[in-house]
Amino acid sequence: MSETVDALCEELSLTAVADHYATLADEAAKKKRSFVEYLEQVLSAEAALRAERSREMLIKLATFPTVKTLEQFDFEAAPGAPKARLQELSGLAFIERRENVILLRPSGVGKTHLAIALGVRATQSGIKVRFITAADLVMQLEKAKREDRFDQYLKRAILGPRLLILDEIGYLPMQKQQADMFFQVIAKRYEQGSVILTSNLSFGDWDQSFDDNAALTSAMLDRLLHHAHVIQIRGESYRLRDARQSGLIGSKANATQATA
Ligand code: ADP
Ligand code: MG
Repeated sequence: MSETVDALCEELSLTAVADHYATLADEAAKKKRSFVEYLEQVLSAEAALRAERSREMLIKLATFPTVKTLEQFDFEAAPGAPKARLQELSGLAFIERRENVILLRPSGVGKTHLAIALGVRATQSGIKVRFITAADLVMQLEKAKREDRFDQYLKRAILGPRLLILDEIGYLPMQKQQADMFFQVIAKRYEQGSVILTSNLSFGDWDQSFDDNAALTSAMLDRLLHHAHVIQIRGESYRLRDARQSGLIGSKANATQATA
């Protein structure tokens, strides 16, 4: 151990170097490693720590409601989820190409899980991601408008992340001004960056959620679908399936849900 090295590490914020240089030096002496090999090991430790910190920071900034991974997704339980396409998407080329991913249909089939999992995968590759529900987005847009910083909000929160995840389109029926603001979000992102979007509504029913404005809805879908991977998930709710398997509900309730 050297006080000078410790002080320099502190000054240069080299946390991993400070933690490991002495142990690695002993090891290098025993194994007769060259100076260059030793330096390589010390610097690798610092690089690994920084990469880990940056991944953690990106996960935090993404504001996921929970962290889910593709590995946790049981494709056997979701025969309607196209495994090969989702695995292809997890390669993240769609983000490079600024394409969108739209996950559609029934409640509880894992749409949010898959959206988060793709988002988490992106953060692991150093990509800035932002997750927000449609309802929260509308609330934030309204707040920004009231506070006269709508354009800044669009620039920072909407154009800032390379991947924007908009969850639960369709649960909140929007009024005219809300639908207009939401449209601006989609228009801003168009060909600028990827959006992953989930909805329990099929496209034909989207206008119900956007103030029954068919013109606005079709202009929005036009932009969203121009470069998009649309994934229709079929199947029964995983939540209900869990409940049924633990005997909480009978199979009849489940059958009704599956076709809802
Ligand atoms: P949706 O967004 O389609 O309503 P969620 O993604 O919220 O559904 O899924 C509901 C819950 O069930 C979540 O906790 C999710 O992790 C879990 N889940 C859904 N489908 C699967 C699956 N095939 N494998 C593992 N967990 C799943
Ligand atoms: Mg969901």
